[in-house]
Amino acid sequence: MTQRRSVSILGATGSVGRSTLDLIERNRDGYEIRALTAHRDVAGLAEAARRVDAERAVIGDPALLTRLRAALAGSGTEAAAGEEAVLEAAGAGADWTMAAIVGTAGLRPTMAAIRGGRTVALANKEALVSAGHLMIEAARASGASLLPVDSEHNAIFQCFDGSRPDAVRRIILTASGGPFRENSLEQMRAATPGEAIAHPNWSMGAKISVDCATLMNKGLELIEAFHLFPLPADAFDVVIHPQSVVHSLVEYVDGSVLAQLGSPDMRIPIAHTLAWPERMATPCERLDLVRTRALSFEAPDLDRFPALGLARQALNDGGARPAVLNAANEIAVGAFLAGRIGFLDIASIAAETLQCYAPAAPASVEEVLEIDRAARDAAEAIVKRVTR
Ligand code: NAD
Ligand code: MG
Repeated sequence: MTQRRSVSILGATGSVGRSTLDLIERNRDGYEIRALTAHRDVAGLAEAARRVDAERAVIGDPALLTRLRAALAGSGTEAAAGEEAVLEAAGAGADWTMAAIVGTAGLRPTMAAIRGGRTVALANKEALVSAGHLMIEAARASGASLLPVDSEHNAIFQCFDGSRPDAVRRIILTASGGPFRENSLEQMRAATPGEAIAHPNWSMGAKISVDCATLMNKGLELIEAFHLFPLPADAFDVVIHPQSVVHSLVEYVDGSVLAQLGSPDMRIPIAHTLAWPERMATPCERLDLVRTRALSFEAPDLDRFPALGLARQALNDGGARPAVLNAANEIAVGAFLAGRIGFLDIASIAAETLQCYAPAAPASVEEVLEIDRAARDAAEAIVKRVTR
């Protein structure tokens, strides 16, 4: 790295945020930290801010400002709190911003970073699912480079930069299949939150881990891929690949298939976006194909994993459907993690919400957020009925 780049991390205390900090700490001379944000984890935020000597640390919950100030006393890091402060930090013009807030909560901050017109590394897939057209449009208008962090989309990006889409016939996203890949519906009915978040290959936040178990994650990723790469919806396929070594594939019209492979460690795709268009060294485990021995692939089972079919349908329907699906899923996953509903209820609550709430396509971020709120209310009402 020849020049120091300024960096901000939205969602610095989460799984992706911490992996990003890990890479930066190993290359301290290459980066200066503008802003770190977190929702409620004051201790984690303050500790990270001290370690990387951040200019500013922002906690989303305004009630925690005094505690954050105390935790940062003497550090030289400025403390701020509240949603507006998160937005301001997101738009503060860092050369590179990691958008790693989980859920639709990340939409406005991610948009603020995109409007800043610099490089935005995008992990916050829910924002793209809910407001994909608006985000892509905003990036075009501001000149921001949107770099996919999600391992599948980063893999695709490494094989296909979006130019000459006519040369591409198909994009194949791989999915590990999650912890219940071989389970029957009956077994899944009794699944606990602990079992659902125990992902066989990746270590991630709770929400995305449950999404991997239902395969909703792969459904959201289909929609994410549709927005990031200029191909029609039916050009995106999903294949189950339990080893999580091949991170996705691009099939060209001549029959060539390009894939990106690597150990299942998010620091690899994050490093790709952090150094882009250069490359940086990482401490990640090297891929040992001889030790891996076999790579296997199978078709997804839509009967046992209906969430994937729901997302495919929402993608095909377009308009507000992906935003409704995403909001309902966030509510249902939250209810499952809180022990209020069963594992199989997650997909049925998402399906029912889609049935009972069908708003018109949103034309602005405000409209997306309105749809998101109403869909959450509708999903919450169904959760209440299910738990009664
Ligand atoms: P996580 O739960 O570990 O961390 C989420 C971060 O967002 C935390 O820093 C938290 O403080 C912040 N946050 C949560 N709610 C917020 C709110 N209302 N306002 C402001 N900040 C808030 O999540 P994660 O696993 O790091 O995932 C982050 C995003 O990246 C998600 O969209 C996920 O789908 C995506 N992603 C994650 C992985 C992974 O390996 N963890 C892989 C691919 C994509
Ligand atoms: Mg992924």
